[in-house]
Amino acid sequence: MKEYDYVILGGGCAGLSLAYELNIHNKLQNKTLAIIEPRKDYIRDKTWSFWKVFEHNFEDCIKKSWGNFSINSETGTRYLECKEFPYQSIDSGLFYKKIINNLKKNQNINFFKSVHEIETSKSFIFNSVPSLDQKGNNLWQHFCGYEIQSIENVFDDKIINLMDFDCEQKNYVHFFYTLPFEKNKALIETTWLSCMNDPKIMNYDDQIKEYIEKKLRIKNYEILYKEQGAIPLFHPLNIKKNKQINIGTAGGMTRLSTGYTFLNIQEHSRYIRENIENISKLSIFEIDKKYQFLDKIFLRVIQNYPGEMRNIFSSMFKVNAAKIIKFLSNESNIFDDISIILKIPKKFFIRSLF
Ligand SMILES: Cc1cc2nc3c(=O)[nH]c(=O)nc-3n(C[C@H](O)[C@H](O)[C@H](O)COP(=O)(O)OP(=O)(O)OC[C@H]3O[C@@H](n4cnc5c(N)ncnc54)[C@H](O)[C@@H]3O)c2cc1C
Repeated sequence: MKEYDYVILGGGCAGLSLAYELNIHNKLQNKTLAIIEPRKDYIRDKTWSFWKVFEHNFEDCIKKSWGNFSINSETGTRYLECKEFPYQSIDSGLFYKKIINNLKKNQNINFFKSVHEIETSKSFIFNSVPSLDQKGNNLWQHFCGYEIQSIENVFDDKIINLMDFDCEQKNYVHFFYTLPFEKNKALIETTWLSCMNDPKIMNYDDQIKEYIEKKLRIKNYEILYKEQGAIPLFHPLNIKKNKQINIGTAGGMTRLSTGYTFLNIQEHSRYIRENIENISKLSIFEIDKKYQFLDKIFLRVIQNYPGEMRNIFSSMFKVNAAKIIKFLSNESNIFDDISIILKIPKKFFIRSLF
């Protein structure tokens, strides 16, 4: 069986981002790479969205960028501008196609369906297959979205609706998320924060249809695409192994208070590429401890006071948009942090400290 210098377990977002980053920086000219990916086809299965707080490799896979967003709660709608850090959505289908076409040109890179097809004893492994602890009290962000096309022009395609809390909460945290790609085309998602042990809130299709038809008042529409998923709001077990680095969700790249992972994966890929010559001695890359600490408390508040969350989210967004975006994208300074902390109702956080 053939030996490889590097092995990437899982050719999804993190595995392919890393392979691409190494390849375009000529780190695979004299090294071999095996990517282990069991899926049959690479087709669009996710829409990765984020505020663009730094340059990334996938500007040409952007489905759309927006300079405005809104939040709806019981007390009304808040409008925010984000032209400095546009909100971008990546079509995973374009992302896979771009990367696979690029990697195919390098004969040092090969794809396999199973790790048993190669010899790995001397390889350095980048693992993106998470080992998730399915404990009943762990929180997940679980969601389902339809991309629809309506007959009439019903959407304002200049502004996204990040969170619409004007919906049934059922003692969890629930909101709708609308990304209008065109005036008659949008991705609409129902999103829950829960431990995923209540089947009553998993009737996603009914929830989206009701929202489209009753809240958005769209009667004539076609479903173009559907996506469904669950992001763990806890870090997978990260067992330290010799000659192995965990990447992606498996490597703790999810910001636990928001589920945003895509840009952290890009930052991690860059860090690995910059240090690939000394990979065995590399210290673990992780989301800043400050955010890990604050997110831990935030998640406790979600679990203890789910009914308060729509007001808490709404209060957080009362600050200047750039500050909250930087905070949610791990780019804030101490002054940004203080202005956000000052806006949120403290009693729930103080009670959730211990
Ligand atoms: C539907 C969805 C939408 C999301 N939207 C956003 C978003 O808008 N913004 C954001 O920042 N984050 C988002 N996320 C979170 C995160 O960015 C994604 O989950 C991202 O795909 C994580 O990348 P990954 O490489 O860790 O995992 P994946 O992309 O899931 O890749 C893991 C790969 O491992 C493969 N695999 C599985 N088992 C094995 C095995 N035994 N051996 C080898 N390979 C295996 C899988 O087939 C898969 O291709 C979303 C997640 C989901 C599920």
